[in-house]
Amino acid sequence: MKIVIAGGSIAGLSSALTLGCIGHDVHVYERSEVPLRGKGGGVAVLRHMMKFLEQHGHYTQKMISVPTVMRRRIDINGDVLTEEPEKLPFSSWDTVYRSLCAMLPKHRISYGREVVGFTEHDNAIEIELEGGERISADMLLAADGIGSRTRARLFPHYESRFAGYVAWRGIVDESLFSPREVEELVNNFTMFRDPGHMFMAFLIPGLDGALEPGKRRFNWLWYRNEADVAAMHRHLTDAQGHRHHSSISPGQLSAASFEELCELASRHLPAALQQLVRETRAPFFQSIFDALSPEFSVGRVALIGDAACTVRPHTASGTSKAADDAVALAEALSVHTELHVKDVLALWAANRREAVSRLLEKGPELAASFGLGSIGT
Ligand SMILES: Cc1cc2nc3c(=O)[nH]c(=O)nc-3n(C[C@H](O)[C@H](O)[C@H](O)COP(=O)(O)OP(=O)(O)OC[C@H]3O[C@@H](n4cnc5c(N)ncnc54)[C@H](O)[C@@H]3O)c2cc1C
Repeated sequence: MKIVIAGGSIAGLSSALTLGCIGHDVHVYERSEVPLRGKGGGVAVLRHMMKFLEQHGHYTQKMISVPTVMRRRIDINGDVLTEEPEKLPFSSWDTVYRSLCAMLPKHRISYGREVVGFTEHDNAIEIELEGGERISADMLLAADGIGSRTRARLFPHYESRFAGYVAWRGIVDESLFSPREVEELVNNFTMFRDPGHMFMAFLIPGLDGALEPGKRRFNWLWYRNEADVAAMHRHLTDAQGHRHHSSISPGQLSAASFEELCELASRHLPAALQQLVRETRAPFFQSIFDALSPEFSVGRVALIGDAACTVRPHTASGTSKAADDAVALAEALSVHTELHVKDVLALWAANRREAVSRLLEKGPELAASFGLGSIGT
């Protein structure tokens, strides 16, 4: 089959790999002019994503992640409240993204090409790219993320919902600090919690994937309840004055928002964590939204990854879920060869919906246990 994939991030690349593996003619159209290097933060590489990278690219956990030794909760003075062994393999969005990019043949992806529409016919689907080019295919896979244009076109009345809290995030080079300044943070997954907010910090590989001490980076995330809509809009307005729906990328945060962030940090965080925030050159900001598409497939269109549904970041499963979607789709297409493509997509969609339902419940439950947002908002 000829399969067009809209979006070349984790879900788009994973599905291009699995569907290419079983012989389909796949092509990814990514609207960004260039590969998305340097944009993401830290991610926990969960079992399913790791298995995917091992099977498709011969990567191993040791090659792409910095393991933690302890999970530590500290108080405002930096004293340890609780400590327990924890071996979480923390990597970075970049490392996972780069690993996937390296596995996909270059001729299978085009950058600077936005999918702007589609029309379904009896025997094919016609996909329209910005600039007017039309491509006929057997299937369109929408891997276009939480703000999916494809989903908006299929379900114009559907809207994602604000979960009641935001995340400030940043990455800062380990080499900016003396070993003494950060000795409490190295090897640990450090958490600080107070009512309505939670801060986490851990080491991830360097931008080039380096894992050696001194060349790694600290990743931090600061979740805060946000009831002030005006403040949220202020932080979602970038340095050029453009308003964004749910996130501001690294390097785009306005100077006023960065100042406000540093001021909040000095009021609410332990000193060891304040220094991470202050030294971060390009912090970023995300409002946490829940999105669950009314359907995961309609006719010859399938929604995959965040376009289908977005799980809360606490489940650390956004990338693994994308890989699972891709593997399950390739399996369904290889097993049900006797069925029409629309029926295979409908079967796959029903199974994936069921598979993610527990994750969708778990995210708000975890958030509520941290005092963030509230179940059902
Ligand atoms: C730059 C970036 C950084 C991220 N950083 C992290 C992180 O640090 N930690 C984490 O847990 N998760 C991160 N995520 C989210 C994480 O990648 C997702 O939860 C998960 O991997 C599934 O993503 P996705 O591929 O479904 O969607 P996304 O990663 O949102 O990707 C959607 C892709 O589709 C492209 N696109 C959108 N519309 C169109 C269109 N009409 N035509 C063509 N292309 C289109 C976008 O440019 C983007 O590349 C990040 C996502 C991005 C884009």
